[in-house]
Amino acid sequence: MQVVLVSHNRKKIEELRAILSRVAPTLTLLSAQEAGLPDDIPEDGDTFEANAVIKARAAARLGYIGIADDSGLMVDALGGAPGVYSARYAGEHGDDAANNAKLLRELAAHPGVPRTAAFVCAMACAFPDGSSYTCSCRCPGEILTEARGEGGFGYDPLFFYAPLGKTFAQLSGEEKNQISHRARTLAAFAPEFAARAEKYLKNR
Ligand code: IMP
Repeated sequence: MQVVLVSHNRKKIEELRAILSRVAPTLTLLSAQEAGLPDDIPEDGDTFEANAVIKARAAARLGYIGIADDSGLMVDALGGAPGVYSARYAGEHGDDAANNAKLLRELAAHPGVPRTAAFVCAMACAFPDGSSYTCSCRCPGEILTEARGEGGFGYDPLFFYAPLGKTFAQLSGEEKNQISHRARTLAAFAPEFAARAEKYLKNR
């Protein structure tokens, strides 16, 4: 049985492949491209979980077991924004500099309010029989008033993680992978996914 990770991000595919080979060694993992999925699946859900399910279901409709994730930043003082709009907060998809500048502007309008936030990641799997499972985890932090660090991507330079005393952009890839929202979600998701996949394959 083939599992499709509905993503075009090579790093995510390699990360998931390594984990799946441990928890579900009989499953082979394909990228969205290898499965012939379009790269413009509309992510119009109101939550990270809804968006992850939309993407996973696109693969399940083709007869694969689909897996997808969706993630973003939620800032308490902004009522959870940018949330599902994280990648296109300032308008253009994936313009990290503009997104960070907008975040600082929006927060500057709330002086004295705690700058607490969380990165959130949801993962979903969907099966050709219509069933699905999602789980999500968060990594709490605070939004600084100016960028710090050169690594990472997205909102990493503004996201301060107190337990390590650094922003996400100051962590090594290895350090970030120990504590990130994505790492936490993947760790929670993988064993449950393996159990559900095994059950699905047995009853097929
Ligand atoms: P995606 O779910 O990987 O497409 O991420 C959506 C958006 O959320 C990204 O474009 C970033 O703006 C933001 N984001 C998600 N995860 C991270 C992270 O680990 N660091 C910084 N920004 C992130």
